[in-house]
Formats: sequence, structure tokens, C-alpha cells
Amino acid sequence: MHIYADNAATTKISKAARDAMIECMDSCYGNPSSLHSDGQLAAEKLVAARESMAKLLGANPNEIYFTSGGSESDNQALITGANLGAKKGKKHIISTKIEHHAVLHTLNKLKKQGFEIELLDVDKNGFVTADAVEAAIREDTALVSVMFANNEIGTIEPIAEIGAVCRRHGVLFHTDAVQAAGHLHIDVAAMNIDMLSLSAHKFHGPKGVGALYCRKGIFLSNLIEGGAQERGKRAGTENLPAIVGMAKAFEEACANMDTTAKKLTSMRDRLIEGLSAIPHSVLNGDKVARLPGNVNMCFEGIEGESLLLLLDMNGIEASSGSACTSGSLDPSHVLLAIGLPHEVAHGSLRLTLSEENTPEEVEYIIKKVPEIVGYLRNMSPVWDELEKGERKHVI
Ligand SMILES: *Cc1c(COP(=O)(O)O)cnc(C)c1O
Repeated sequence: MHIYADNAATTKISKAARDAMIECMDSCYGNPSSLHSDGQLAAEKLVAARESMAKLLGANPNEIYFTSGGSESDNQALITGANLGAKKGKKHIISTKIEHHAVLHTLNKLKKQGFEIELLDVDKNGFVTADAVEAAIREDTALVSVMFANNEIGTIEPIAEIGAVCRRHGVLFHTDAVQAAGHLHIDVAAMNIDMLSLSAHKFHGPKGVGALYCRKGIFLSNLIEGGAQERGKRAGTENLPAIVGMAKAFEEACANMDTTAKKLTSMRDRLIEGLSAIPHSVLNGDKVARLPGNVNMCFEGIEGESLLLLLDMNGIEASSGSACTSGSLDPSHVLLAIGLPHEVAHGSLRLTLSEENTPEEVEYIIKKVPEIVGYLRNMSPVWDELEKGERKHVI
């Protein structure tokens, strides 16, 4: 048995995206900036990919910039917002406590440069409200950045409402939509989004490529200087095979979005139901406004890392939080932000499904996880104290 249930960390490339990339590498190796025929053929492919991505986001092609992925798009968007604000003497930036590190670490850097960073709290399900954003907006607010959907607990934020509030107050609004793109409907115009980050490898495209949507009229700051690629906003010869693969994967994901979501939601809810039977367990994130493939639970008295290792030995590949925090001993900042105590946040398990998973795999997971949790609890001194009543159950 080999079950890949870590699709929030990355996904398997789709066959169509892979084929499009290979075709591009074999027959379209010209540089899109070259004036000869091979170059122009490559340039046409680039135009087509940009048009396709734009259309599926409700944007114009000249509002799409290709980048190396979600992290770069997040960096460029935040630095752009900060630079534009600074020009007008605005140095207040609003975001949330549950953002990805690509956002949080960039904000930390901006803080050192003199910006005032206000990270909003989220409620126990991971929501930030449009009212909370509105209450935080000041005269000197340069930028609001709120993620579309959380990569750990799957909570989907009220992005259209937050966008409306920001637009009403004339404040720039960026959203990290890396977990949402290809999985949830996005319309940048209708949702009043000024800048949006996405990454191909989260929707069955290749790794190392992404896009930044930046609304017309917003002066984008460069991270990389050099040639005039991406209308002068992102130098470097375009990674055409990856861009073509991303566009193909995005077209596929968007075309199948509703059927995929239905299938994943049903497997997700069965998994939540099955694992909730484990005593002293809790579901993290909202039950309904949740990414279709995301399950995140905590089990009291165990270490997430031990659980992951034993699951892996049983053929189940999962995660204990974000791929970036696994490997460190600190509990996830997201789980702490929703109010979980340290010791509970350590016992977390994230299972993220894709359309490659099957109901049979879900049943196997529902059978295996309780066995392993029981085994680990039997060896756990913490669980022993809980059982003897020397320590109080928190969940
Ligand atoms: C994966 C992820 C990123 C980073 O994207 P990369 O393409 O890996 O750089 C950023 N934000 C969120 C929410 C993510 O899930």
C-alpha cells in the first residue's frame, strides 16, 4: 500500500501538464525574446499561456507575471505594497497570524526596515473577518494581505468581503491564493483583489513556477533586475516549459474543479468522521468553509512526528503541519493561533487528498491511524498521566 496524502505540500504532475512540457522542451526551445522563427514560436506559447491563466482568474493578460513560485510572488507583492505605501508616507501593513512563512518572513524583513506590521488574530476555526480588517485599517495603511485558504488547517477566508472593505477604503489588497488556485473559484475583479499569488505545483503543475496577478495601474517593484522579460518586472529568460505546464495544469484543474471538489469533499468528510471516533481528538479548522481535500486533526498525548513515521512505515504519507515547520520542534504557528495549547499542537496530523486518492485508501487510513495513535499513547508518559488523572485532558 502506498498512499500519498500530502497534496498541500505538493502534488503529482498531471499527465497533460507533463506531456505539454516535454513537447515544449523538444520542439520549442527558442528564447521568446529572439526575433527569429524559433524565438517567435516560443513567444507565441508564452502569450497563449498568459492569456489562458488570465482568463481563468478573471484578469487581463497584461496583469499576469510569471515567477518562480508562490514564495517569490508573495515576496514581490508585499514589497510592492510596502514601496508604494512608503512613497505616500504610509507604513502600516495588515496581515494575519496564520499566513505562510513566505508572507510572514517578508513582513518581518519589512518591519526591520521601519514598517509597522499588524498581524490580526483568527478565531478558533482560523477565520479573520472583514470587520476585523476594517477596524484595523488606518489613514496610513499601505497594504492588507490575507491568505485565500490556509495551507495547514484548510480554512477558507472571506476574501470577497475583505476585498470589498479594502477597495472601499482605497487600501491595496494582496491574497496568497497558493492553496486556492485550481481548487476554488477565483475572480480577481469580482473579489476586488489587487494582487494574487499562485503556484503551479499545488495544482498538479510543475515545481518552481508560479504567477503573480497585479491589477493594471499598480506599479510593481522588481525583485530581479536584468532583461526586459515580464514587461520589465521580472528579469531572466522565461522558464517556458514550466510556464506551459502550469497553464495546462491550471486549465485542467479549473475545468474539473466542481467534480473534483465534490469527490474530495466526500472523502474528506468520511475521513474526518472516521478519525473523530478516536477519543480526545479534535478537528482543526472549519467543518464547512474548508479546502475540499484538507483534514487536520490533533490527538492528545502523542507527538506528530512519531505518528508520521509510523504512518509512513504503513505506507501512508502525511504531514504534521506545513512542510516548512516539519523538521523543526516548534509547534505550528497556525495551530497556536487558533488557540491550541503547545502540547496538543504537537500531536497534529494533516492529510491532504487529491483526485488520485480513492475511497479504499480513505478506509485504510481510518483503520490504521487509530491503531498507531493507540500504540503511541500506550508508550507515552504524558498519556499515562492523563489516564491516571494526574494531568487534565484539554481536548
Ligand atoms: C506552498 C505555499 C507557498 C509557497 O509556494 P512555493 O511555490 O512552494 O514557493 C506559499 N503560500 C502557501 C499558502 C503555500 O501553500
